[in-house]
Amino acid sequence: MFTSLSDRLTGTFKNLRGKGRLSESDVNKTVRDIRMALIDADVSLPVVKQFTSAVRERATGAEVSQALNPAQQVIKIVNEELVEILGGNTRTITYAKRPPTVIMLAGLQGSGKTTFAGKLGARLKEEGHTPLLVAADLQRPNAVTQLEVVGQRAGVSVFAPERGNTGGHDAVSGTGEGTRSFGDPVGVSRAGIQEALSRQHDVVIVDTAGRLAVDADLMQQASDIRAAIEPDEVLFVIDAMIGQAAVETAQAFQEGVDFTGVVLSKLDGDARGGAALSVAGTTGRPIMFASTGEQVKDIEVFHPDRMASRILDMGDVLTLIEQAERAFERGQAEEMQRKFLAEEDFTFDDFLQQMAAIKRMGSLKSMLKMMPGMGQMSAELDAFDERQFDRIEAMVQSMTRFERTHPKQINGSRRARIARGSGVEVSEVNQLLERFGQAQKVMKQMARGGGVPGMPGMPG
Ligand code: GDP
Repeated sequence: MFTSLSDRLTGTFKNLRGKGRLSESDVNKTVRDIRMALIDADVSLPVVKQFTSAVRERATGAEVSQALNPAQQVIKIVNEELVEILGGNTRTITYAKRPPTVIMLAGLQGSGKTTFAGKLGARLKEEGHTPLLVAADLQRPNAVTQLEVVGQRAGVSVFAPERGNTGGHDAVSGTGEGTRSFGDPVGVSRAGIQEALSRQHDVVIVDTAGRLAVDADLMQQASDIRAAIEPDEVLFVIDAMIGQAAVETAQAFQEGVDFTGVVLSKLDGDARGGAALSVAGTTGRPIMFASTGEQVKDIEVFHPDRMASRILDMGDVLTLIEQAERAFERGQAEEMQRKFLAEEDFTFDDFLQQMAAIKRMGSLKSMLKMMPGMGQMSAELDAFDERQFDRIEAMVQSMTRFERTHPKQINGSRRARIARGSGVEVSEVNQLLERFGQAQKVMKQMARGGGVPGMPGMPG
């Protein structure tokens, strides 16, 4: 995400590097470059204007002319203004004082609402909540089934009306009981909240219908649902790929339903980022979540400061660490550390566990992109073949239990068998074993306080 905008901006700053003073024409040129970069990234014009005039004003002021390193200072200003445009402080869900907290999702069809409902449900469950998804999208024949599938995948209960039954009864993940009258989305939403109350779900996520384009009926329906259920949060889900159209759509929803926060979806695609920079700026509503893929785990809390940092290729190490913490199962990291300190051998079983955790964190590429300076290596990163991981995993899985814990005993015939079992060349198995041996050695050395070879040892 934001790759080309990021490339352009970092390119602009390169021209400033090494300059002891910035002349007026340096500033003008920089502001012009930033302006072009933003326009090319599909940022809406009013936002571009607001942004560049803020940067220009500050860049010609005392904070830059008196700075020791003017280029750094300009980057700092651009960073701060980006954070501002993206909404300033991180905003997360505000919970109702008395449960259930009601969260309503609105947006165009295909924007990613249903997928997001599942992701948010899973995330909240992980945080100890007991969410219920409510299928109030009765427009699209498949929407209810889709939400049920999403709910199942996310491990979250779904409340849905029975299909084709306008006066029907509820069918809650197979636990349906009683008969209530609803066939309309408002009725379903209300019934969903009742259900949450009686089954003690503390959060209700209501998925509403979308249309391919903004239309009056859609707005009326969403607005009726809103009036009926009085949600604590109304999240407007928008596809980051729709570029310039984002602002218009967001404004229509703001007028028609109004929302408390924005969810940017499909940020994993090659969206040019304009939507992100424009929507918060024009509606004054914060972006609260980013949706970054089709899997349940592909959801991030949107932190304006971290996002700005990513755009400027300053990395986002905090998000990386949080993802790692989430990916390792409870106690797994401690167990790894205990083994490490006890100088027990690092085995292929440990290795498999680590690979699984890394996989849970998402793609290696997306993780590497969060490292500072990595944005400029995007071509190399794109060339990286994630399947390499699968090959390694296949080799380890072809090892016997004994082999995994005694890698040194893997002789020639065992190597040939492993290669056959995993469909690779023997040379690849050799390479894996050699690297693994080296890794084991390095770990031992580090555990003994020797530090990383070639680096000064750590005191204590
Ligand atoms: P809805 O009509 O608003 O409920 O949209 P859906 O949740 O059905 O999503 C529409 C399509 O976009 C589906 O094919 C999803 O798999 C896909 N999708 C949703 N969110 C994301 C995302 O963050 N990244 C990507 N790449 N695809 C997504």
